[in-house]
Amino acid sequence: MRFSGLRVLREGLTGNKGWTPQWRDADPKAEYDAIIIGGGGHGLSTAYYLAKEHGLTNVAVLEKGYLGGGNVGRNTTIVRANYFLPGNSEFYSHSLKLWEGLEQDLNYNVMHSQRGLINLFHSDGQRDAFARRGNAMINQGDDAVLLDRAGVRKHLPYLDFDNARFPIYGGLLHPRGGTARHDAVAWGYARGASERGVDLIQQCEVTGIDIENGRVRGVQTTRGAIRAKKVGIVVAGRSGQVAAMAGMRLPIESHVLQAFVTEGLKPCIDHVVSFGMGHFYISQSDKGGLVFGGDLDFYASYAARGNLPMAEHVMEAGMALMPMIGKARVLRSWGGIMDMTPDGSPIIDKTDTQGLFIDCGWCYGGFKAVPGSGFSFAHLMATGHHHGPAARYRLDRFRTGRGLMDEEGTGSQHNLH
Ligand SMILES: Cc1cc2nc3c(=O)[nH]c(=O)nc-3n(C[C@H](O)[C@H](O)[C@H](O)COP(=O)(O)OP(=O)(O)OC[C@H]3O[C@@H](n4cnc5c(N)ncnc54)[C@H](O)[C@@H]3O)c2cc1C
Repeated sequence: MRFSGLRVLREGLTGNKGWTPQWRDADPKAEYDAIIIGGGGHGLSTAYYLAKEHGLTNVAVLEKGYLGGGNVGRNTTIVRANYFLPGNSEFYSHSLKLWEGLEQDLNYNVMHSQRGLINLFHSDGQRDAFARRGNAMINQGDDAVLLDRAGVRKHLPYLDFDNARFPIYGGLLHPRGGTARHDAVAWGYARGASERGVDLIQQCEVTGIDIENGRVRGVQTTRGAIRAKKVGIVVAGRSGQVAAMAGMRLPIESHVLQAFVTEGLKPCIDHVVSFGMGHFYISQSDKGGLVFGGDLDFYASYAARGNLPMAEHVMEAGMALMPMIGKARVLRSWGGIMDMTPDGSPIIDKTDTQGLFIDCGWCYGGFKAVPGSGFSFAHLMATGHHHGPAARYRLDRFRTGRGLMDEEGTGSQHNLH
């Protein structure tokens, strides 16, 4: 079924009886050419591009809960390509280009809104760092505009410009940055993959990975054993646990990241804004809620819920930047399990087991990566070759120390990212 304005009109006039389910809820077959473990954004986009770009349709996505119930439906929806280091820069640039054609490609409204992202800076040193970042973005072919204080005031007049502790010196505007409706992205990819013949199997937890003579043979699940020639692990916060089923110990720690949303308000924040001196970033959803978040909770955990000290920290940072939000009532907060690598950059690679591939380490930045990661991981799984923009996301960089991408410049250690 194709979506179009005409279709919406017709359905509206005929009682909305013609809409069909967005995807088939499939039962597992005995064997597939490829299995994707994890029905989050990255798993679903991988399945979609396997089918669309490589004609591989005898594929199953195995999801232990429901599609989109993980981090892809829990994030603060920020989409951007403002990375600095070679490796990250070209990857996120490629991903943003895919975002820009995604709604047409999927024939699905993912509400991608390029409303502009402004990273604020609060000292001369920070301005220098953001100027360098902006130059790197422009060199990559993306867009960046360095704003002075007056420039920021023009865009964001509601900020506290009298704050003596965190004076606003300016900001780096990334006009093509913005947001998208997170769960619609999962649904759109699910629909596209299902339409092309991929089996999407929910309530199907992988409990073991079958390996014989160094080759993957399939997986054990709560719905029985399934054979496969290729298996891709794409389980975000659960990466360490699932990789352990194949005898791998990953350089990953799992942490909680929280997010918050207020009651619906009239439109007041029309960009994505991030604070340079504290952990706080904010945008306003199309329903009117202010959606904001901060940093990781910084202790390893598999609990998908946060704690009050971090909630307080995030609120404090928000109040320092835009005191007017103190009037809004927080409706909900939630947490997601983040897969953090020592250099804070992701992994898209083969493993030592033939036919077994892994895509992980996206931590708090993987929503914007959903199209790029799926595209590159599908390329790797289908062809056996690394895809250009993701070619540096190798697993062995943590063993050799060569090729680390420490985007934040804080050092190669989990708890510093
Ligand atoms: C609060 C919060 C805010 C964030 N904000 C942003 C942001 O603004 N911008 C941004 O770019 N990124 C953001 N992120 C990060 C982003 O959401 C993640 O990096 C990304 O969604 C992870 O990939 P995924 O979608 O595939 O993960 P998930 O949706 O978590 O998918 C993994 C799936 O694997 C399944 N699974 C696990 N184990 C098994 C098993 N054994 N068998 C079968 N299935 C299994 C899980 O149930 C899950 O559905 C944020 C994350 C959080 C939590």
